[in-house]
Amino acid sequence: MKALVKARAEPGLWMERVPVPEPGPTDVLIKVKKSAICGTDVHIWKWDDWAKATIPVPMVVGHEFVGEIVETGTAATKYTVGMRVSGEGHIVCGICRNCRAGRGHLCRNTRGVGVNRPGSFAEYLCIPEANVVPIPPEIPDEVAAIFDPFGNAVHTALSFDLVGEDVLVTGAGPIGIMGALVAQKAGAQRVVITDINQYRLDLARRLGVQHVVKADEEGLDSVMARIGMTEGFDVGLEMSGAPPAMRDMIHYMNNGGKVALLGIAPQGFAVDWNEVIFKMLHIKGIYGREMFETWYKMIALVRSGLDLSGLITHRIGIDDYATGFAAMISGDAGKVVMDWEP
Ligand code: NAD
Ligand code: ZN
Repeated sequence: MKALVKARAEPGLWMERVPVPEPGPTDVLIKVKKSAICGTDVHIWKWDDWAKATIPVPMVVGHEFVGEIVETGTAATKYTVGMRVSGEGHIVCGICRNCRAGRGHLCRNTRGVGVNRPGSFAEYLCIPEANVVPIPPEIPDEVAAIFDPFGNAVHTALSFDLVGEDVLVTGAGPIGIMGALVAQKAGAQRVVITDINQYRLDLARRLGVQHVVKADEEGLDSVMARIGMTEGFDVGLEMSGAPPAMRDMIHYMNNGGKVALLGIAPQGFAVDWNEVIFKMLHIKGIYGREMFETWYKMIALVRSGLDLSGLITHRIGIDDYATGFAAMISGDAGKVVMDWEP
């Protein structure tokens, strides 16, 4: 089969022919219809320090996908050939304390599809049956293909009660924009999103995020005055991984505010911990989705009218993958969805 492979320990990905994976007894084999490019895939393309330390070479990468089940393992009995599915890309051990308590998202032994084992930039993908999520017919393929990052946004945004709250989202990348839209749909009062990239801010505005702020041009004190806020933000969703954004967020939270951190900083950085202490902030780290409650809520949000299609700015055939990666690397892109069907 065709697959995008990290074939060499240097920048780039290469289209190669590799064997179709063979499903074990509890696995399913999925024919991939569409897969989307994640920021993680860009790290792997660029071959940065994280990628060098994490990705075995050679390796088929990619983890955002939708496809159709074409084969089930001998002991995989829950789903049938022909079903349209996506799937959870975190594969958990099932035997650690958290897994056995039903908290798989907290598994210490999580392995990532397209990171620690072969991924979805391929004609066929093999994952455990337990990771499969059937997609209802009314959800388009291209939207199902971005459910993995949508799940990051939903998990982060729904970490705290949002009804009537003033919410600050730092970072208007695809996940930040989706987080802001979820907050608005869930009943937040005012939602402010910040970024320094004009393309991303324009995209956020087009998709209907209430208050869109260019962080390097307007301070949050001015924004708060402009939109009638007198105290501070109740909920913060950190979606940039940028230290200045994180420091601003802590500074402009109200006392007792709640902060969920999804963005990943390139390295450790300082914040004013005394502000966290004296404001009595709650801080929660987020990794992936809360299996599988997040998937349930994602499907429910889309079914009840949350439209994500405008976030997809590039729809390309798989052979044009280099164009898709170039768009992602430039920053002037929302989601890039690659079609595996001719
Ligand atoms: P992205 O890189 O597309 O978006 C980040 C955005 O932050 C960019 O638009 C960038 O311009 C903006 N930004 C940079 N400096 C800023 C500043 N000072 N103030 C405000 N915005 C600023 O990433 P994404 O795909 O939307 O993901 C969001 C973040 O979440 C990334 O850091 C990513 O690595 C991380 N992530 C974490 C998990 C997890 O499980 N924790 C999963 C996926 C992604
Ligand atoms: Zn576990």
